[in-house]
Amino acid sequence: MTQREKNIYESFQNNQLGIYSSFRFRCTMCGKCCINREDILLNAKDVYHLAKILHTTCDQIVQKYGDVYLGKNSRVPIVRLQSVGTDHRCPFLQDNKCTVHDLKPTVCALFPLGRAISFEESKPDEITQDMVKFFFSDPNCGDKSQKHTVLEWMIRSKLPIEDEFFLKWQTVLMKVSDYVKTAEKQMSEENFENLNKILFFLLYLNYDIQKEFLPQFIERTEKIGKFLDKMRECLTGGKIQ
Ligand code: SF4
Ligand code: SF4
Repeated sequence: MTQREKNIYESFQNNQLGIYSSFRFRCTMCGKCCINREDILLNAKDVYHLAKILHTTCDQIVQKYGDVYLGKNSRVPIVRLQSVGTDHRCPFLQDNKCTVHDLKPTVCALFPLGRAISFEESKPDEITQDMVKFFFSDPNCGDKSQKHTVLEWMIRSKLPIEDEFFLKWQTVLMKVSDYVKTAEKQMSEENFENLNKILFFLLYLNYDIQKEFLPQFIERTEKIGKFLDKMRECLTGGKIQ
């Protein structure tokens, strides 16, 4: 775990905030949070937004700016922004300004707030709003001259508190993760690699940027659900190894 990840984990444990709780922070626009970053993860909607703002396709965004790997614990395909240059800067930072500001990735829009899922007992079938937790991770930058509530910050970040996409995204990742962790133990390396290519495609690629994102994503989650059911059948029936 990097020091940054440790700080985020500690903030999640100790600095959780309700939507009307406040925190103090003012960004002084120094641009340092966009340098030395290897941890800007993109969800499917972020990829779609970047494709839209840069007038290209989701596939091109991932190819040109993304680094794809399997999550260490989750084993699901993850896309992170690939930094550039010796100072590991975000490829969208120019003259200390974010060139994709209006549709920047969710983690950037939320910064220095974080949003994560927490459930107490056994794994749920669906991620629901009551499991969404906000937390403040002191970025040690800017100053503390402004006070914001979580709700105000979310509005400013153009993100809804009850974010249907976020709940569905977390739910589908949880389901994919459950399946692939079992499949990995039973499949050949080659088949597992192919499985991940399909899941990666279904999760992140080939969205039509001329159409609304959410209906397309809902259709994908249904396809992924059917695909996983089929794969489960094949795996238990011994049709793939
Ligand atoms: S997308 Fe924008 S805000 Fe996010 S790291 Fe890159 S330049 Fe900074
Ligand atoms: S969030 Fe912090 S590091 Fe990033 S530009 Fe603002 S003051 Fe600088």
